[in-house]
Amino acid sequence: MTRNIEIVEVGPRDGLQNEKLIVSTADKVELARRAIAAGVRRLEVTSFVNPGRVAQMADAEEVVKALGRPEGVTRIGLVLNDKGAQRALDCGLDELGAVAVASDAFGIQNQKQTSAESVEVARRIIAMASAAGRSVQVTIAVAFGCPFGGTVEPARVVDMARRLAGAEPREIALADTIGVAVPSEVAALVAAVRAAISPIPVRVHFHDTRNTGIANIWAAVEAGATTVDAALGGLGGCPFAPGAAGNVATEDVVYLLGRSGIRTGVDLDALLSASRWLGGVMGKELPSKLARAGGFPAGGGQ
Ligand code: ZN
Repeated sequence: MTRNIEIVEVGPRDGLQNEKLIVSTADKVELARRAIAAGVRRLEVTSFVNPGRVAQMADAEEVVKALGRPEGVTRIGLVLNDKGAQRALDCGLDELGAVAVASDAFGIQNQKQTSAESVEVARRIIAMASAAGRSVQVTIAVAFGCPFGGTVEPARVVDMARRLAGAEPREIALADTIGVAVPSEVAALVAAVRAAISPIPVRVHFHDTRNTGIANIWAAVEAGATTVDAALGGLGGCPFAPGAAGNVATEDVVYLLGRSGIRTGVDLDALLSASRWLGGVMGKELPSKLARAGGFPAGGGQ
């Protein structure tokens, strides 16, 4: 049986937000365009956060304007509060991505909200977007572990997911923000959250800090996640987690899934060429394994 898995390209936001080199608006737009040309149909284009805290995202409105409205593409803006949500709505984005945090300590650092407050804010953002006729989803950050508080009880995440589901987002994502999860935990939590929020689908977001990212994606797909976040080249990180790495590279995910008979609709060769281009922009070799090794068999694409 052939399955489809949807890829959400988060490179323009999560991939870049922790990079010291400030990327030009034109290059951010080019990154989005190359991902779209490769077949990506949903992408996180920016975040609407305080530019004093995340300088890389200071041109959020400009990026959205310059990208325009590519046909058949859902453009997502990440938002952490009402003000960010209003900015995202005002510039006409298709979808808002809210963030609820599974630990108080991380929530205070990341968005000045406790876990409980972040759920309330996310529910409000979902209501705002829905009232404006836009799509909206929510990510549960540090769902597998917190850099300050340690392990996170799965029951807590399931409970949060249930409360968020009551506001009717299009999907709920589980994020391993600091890259600590292992596949057995992922399989169990994806299954538990699916059971709690069905028919709302589950998306997953893994950082590859401890080399478990790709295995975690496979575990999530097997456990019934429908959508996977990935960042071109594997760029990215988290400012509050020592050694935190980027998301699993989009090209690595597309290779894994494509060769396993799972359709993503994304072309590997086009991604590889986009990844090489991005390495040039960033002036460094990117973490992606596929960008180094190429696909297999030769010319096989995906
Ligand atoms: Zn992330």
